[in-house]
This record gives sequence, C-alpha cells and structure tokens, in this order.
Amino acid sequence: MVRKWIDYKTEAWVQWCPGCGDFGILNAIYRALAELDIDPSKLVIVGGIGCSSRSVYYIKANAIHTIHGRAIPVASGVKLANPELTVVVTGGDGDLLGIGGGHFVALGRRNIDMTVVVYDNGVYGLTKGQAGPTLPVWLKTKALPHPNIQGSVNPLLLAFAAGYTFIARGYAFHLNQLKDLIKAAIQHRGAAVVDVLQPCPTYNDIMTNEWYEKRIYYLSEDSSWDPVVRSPQELKEKAPKILEKMMEFEDRIPLGIFYQNTYMETLEERLEKLMPGYLSSPPGRRPVTKPLAHPFELFKDKVVQV
Ligand code: SF4
Repeated sequence: MVRKWIDYKTEAWVQWCPGCGDFGILNAIYRALAELDIDPSKLVIVGGIGCSSRSVYYIKANAIHTIHGRAIPVASGVKLANPELTVVVTGGDGDLLGIGGGHFVALGRRNIDMTVVVYDNGVYGLTKGQAGPTLPVWLKTKALPHPNIQGSVNPLLLAFAAGYTFIARGYAFHLNQLKDLIKAAIQHRGAAVVDVLQPCPTYNDIMTNEWYEKRIYYLSEDSSWDPVVRSPQELKEKAPKILEKMMEFEDRIPLGIFYQNTYMETLEERLEKLMPGYLSSPPGRRPVTKPLAHPFELFKDKVVQV
C-alpha cells in the first residue's frame, strides 16, 4: 500500500493562528511520512507543551501529549521498549531547549535512533509571547516590556556538542526542502534533530516571513558541501567548516544538512552488546505476565561484562 499525505491527517481541528509557521512544518511532516510510507500503527509522535506540541493531535499515529519539557525522555522510553517503532518528537524551542534542555542534551549523548523536530520561533507562543531560548539578545518582540537581555541558544551547536549524529535546519514555508530534511532525519540511524525556523506572526513581529526570506540560503548551493562524516578522522577534518556554518546567523542564515555521522553506534546497539538478544526480543514485544521488572532483570542471565 502506498500512502498519501492525507492518510496521516486526523479529523482534529488545527488550533493555530492564521499564518503560523506550524502549518508548514505539519504539512512537511505529513509528506515526509507519506514518502517513507510509514505504517501509522508503527509510528509514535510525542509532544511536550506549547503550540507546536499540539501536532500530536493532528498526525495519525500513536500519539503522546506529555508534560512540559519531557517529550524526549518519554519518546526515549518508547523507542527503547520497542526499537522497531519510528519515533518522532515535536516541540517548540522553549519546550525542547529551555524546560527540556537537559533531556535534549541527554538524547545526543545516548544517540537513540529517533527524530526531534524543533519548531523554532524564539517565543513562548502558547503563554503569550515571552522570550524563548532562541530569541537573539536585544530583540524586543511585541509582548516584551523591554528588549530581551538573555543570550540565545544555538540549537545546532548544542546538538553537535551533545552528540547528535544528524543535524539539519529548515524553514517552515519551504515545504519541499523541509520535507526532504525530515525524511533524511527519520531515515538516519541515530539521534537526529531538525531545527525549523518558523514565523510566529502573533508574538514575534521581528523574525517574520520577510525577515527570514531575506536571509536564508541553502548549504547545497555550494556543490562541494558534504556534511557526511564516516570516521573520527573525517570528523576532525570537517568540524571547523561545519561549526563555522552552524554559527552563521545574522545577515545570512544557512539551511540544509549540517552534519551526519554514520559511524557512531546507537544506544540500541550498545544495549545489544550489553544484553545479547535485546534487539530481537526487546521489552515492549514480550508478553507481560507480571509487573514489568527493571530491563536488566529481563536479561539477567545474559548480561555480559564489557
Ligand atoms: Fe503559531 Fe505563534 Fe499563534 Fe502559537 S501563538 S499558534 S506559534 S502564531
């Protein structure tokens, strides 16, 4: 069966403001899922709290709307219980990089095979436009009584430092390019993050569609750009250029795949080394005959010393 994007759309009424970048991101996710022909019964979407986290209601999948900042640990538990599932986290920059910042770092360290889509608009839209973690210093968006006096987090640099093995940035209203980035992130083996720049026309009156369109360009315009790293040596050679591009966020803002590490092992592969049989018979696919024990209990006769 070949699925169409509409097969992933639920009947729920989409509660976002007119012109919100969330619409573009949601549509790109629908199209990426359709092109990958992912079975909705094997797809898990996890959201935290915020406008963007409401995406869990709009995508036909197993959906979990969890608490503020905790989408990544919940999604990690789902994926480790059953590694066959495709797991996608949707959340805002506030949810994932502010309240959930520690969990964002932990996923990079673990390199669990799942995808995080950051709806990055620089504000806490759901709670009336406070400064979010990615809002540049000294910007005064319309809900702020004073300019923002906090420095901003660079999601790409944070992801690189934490250990994510796929790092990309897209723009909410470039549907085709964003769809391709989300597809590549889902297909990647390991922790993937797609930071999506998106206008919030209700509260961020500075970083508007026009503001972004004047600045954004694609890394792929340079035909020599190759973000794939296949060995520690290649990482050392390519890191300076990758970091330079990740830091560029002023008059010019690059989009595309910044980094893809194909050699780093995932947490699932490490668990398989520690507990042989984990991947072929993970906890989530075993019959529950008694209250679940600690995972090590399930494999106690098999745990090996490494
Ligand atoms: Fe979108 Fe901003 Fe409205 Fe939230 S407040 S739905 S982010 S436009």
